[in-house]
Amino acid sequence: MEAPLQQLHSPLLDKRGIALWVKREDLLHPTISGNKWRKLKYNLQEAKRLRHDTLLTFGGAYSNHIAAVAAAGQEFGFRTIGIIRGEEHLPLNPTLEFATAAGMALHYVSREAYRQKTDVDFLEQLSQQFAQPYIIPEGGTNALALKGCTEIVSDIPMEYDYICCACGTGGTLAGIIAGLEGKRQVLGFPALKGGGFLEKEIEQLIESYNGQHFANWRLITDYHFGGYAKVKPELLNFMRDFQIEHQLPVEPIYTGKLLYGLMDLIQKGHFPRGSRVIAVHTGGLQGNAGFRERLGIEV
Ligand SMILES: *Cc1c(COP(=O)(O)O)cnc(C)c1O
Repeated sequence: MEAPLQQLHSPLLDKRGIALWVKREDLLHPTISGNKWRKLKYNLQEAKRLRHDTLLTFGGAYSNHIAAVAAAGQEFGFRTIGIIRGEEHLPLNPTLEFATAAGMALHYVSREAYRQKTDVDFLEQLSQQFAQPYIIPEGGTNALALKGCTEIVSDIPMEYDYICCACGTGGTLAGIIAGLEGKRQVLGFPALKGGGFLEKEIEQLIESYNGQHFANWRLITDYHFGGYAKVKPELLNFMRDFQIEHQLPVEPIYTGKLLYGLMDLIQKGHFPRGSRVIAVHTGGLQGNAGFRERLGIEV
């Protein structure tokens, strides 16, 4: 499938003289959504090459990455194991229900144990326990994920000045920066509070991917709305209006915050007139069902 560029039109964009496109990565695959497909692509090839029959990964109970790995395992013939942070709650929420239906075996670990998710000893123990699976880090972020995410930009057949993307681990942004090799301006919008720490992590991800450093990017840390998976009425109102105005589905964890922040920057005159801006829609729409259920609100 493709991730087309959808141009948005609005009085604000006209007034500020900005041309804005949304790169619809959410349309790449029906269940392995958006950036998670980009991040998994080369990991799946590597797992096959190394003759693993099982994928093991980590996530919270609403994780887009957990849902994506479960779907990828089903489609590409791997057994899948999800190490889930926290206790089991029944009935399963829509994300874990989906993952289970796609064949993923769920193993719940305490929040303390989950914090060890990158410790060598813990990973070795999981490796033994589950018969040497191919282990994918939380959020799918590793060097092969960066390689996949460079294809977000190689897939854009037009000239532009800025590209903007939401950040969780920063792996997707790191791949975009690496793919651009110093060209254009890249803005990352962390979905977490205090997202400034991601700067170092993104530097390191790029460094370990291709040994390079780039200066054509920065993080915009003002649009987290209280923290990861936190929302405020103004965000939900923005999303509702945005979806009606542009006929474009978004979710509150990443893409809603990105587009709110981007529109706010445009409103404040952050971008020179005549700028051509691309916003990456990283997908994640599967999370909306759980969000509605959890908060009893419409998104
Ligand atoms: C996982 C996810 C992100 C964050 O990607 P990172 O590579 O971890 O920064 C952004 N948007 C959506 C919709 C996601 O599911």
